[in-house]
Amino acid sequence: MRIVFLGPPGSGKGTQATLLKERLGVPHISTGELLRAAVAAKTPLGLQAKAAMDAGELVSDELVLGLIEERMASDDTAKGYILDGYPRNLAQAEALDQVLGSLNRPVQKALALMVDEEQIVQRLAKRAEMEGRSDDTEEVVRNRLAVYREQTAPVADHYRAKGILVDIDGVGTIEEINQRLQNALD
Ligand code: ADP
Repeated sequence: MRIVFLGPPGSGKGTQATLLKERLGVPHISTGELLRAAVAAKTPLGLQAKAAMDAGELVSDELVLGLIEERMASDDTAKGYILDGYPRNLAQAEALDQVLGSLNRPVQKALALMVDEEQIVQRLAKRAEMEGRSDDTEEVVRNRLAVYREQTAPVADHYRAKGILVDIDGVGTIEEINQRLQNALD
């Protein structure tokens, strides 16, 4: 199964994608994780991406596209994938269609996790205490939410127009939400 996960920061995409990948036996590909690894390893790409990430802005489309092209062309995505954190704007959605089209691995379902902003600010404040991610401070979280609202939310319509978007209520226990996602895939 070839899946794209949509939803605001803190909506639980990462948690749910991890659970789902076990069940489906496909790789979970998170551009946020790929970028954080590049920053930690101080690769040229990581060094270029860091400032935008720390500010809660999007890393340039060009940089992230290079990363995604390389990752999606790996053998392990032939059996499927769960993509998390990409695409994040309409230009990325169109670039992704191209990349996946030429690999013959187009998206089959877009799952949009829906959680309201008040909940998200609370969840990310908690995560900041536990994980200490540098972009989970209140100011940066607000910026990430604004970027999401302005640039990423319209991506849902891109998949809705293709008839492959499913909206999922993202409020509840991890198990409840996992069950909703499984139902949407059955
Ligand atoms: P979250 O969904 O909680 O914001 P992610 O781990 O998905 O966290 O992303 C963290 C940061 O990495 C983003 O704020 C952004 O700077 C960068 N990033 C991740 N994916 C992309 C992307 N597709 N395009 C541009 N920047 C990205």
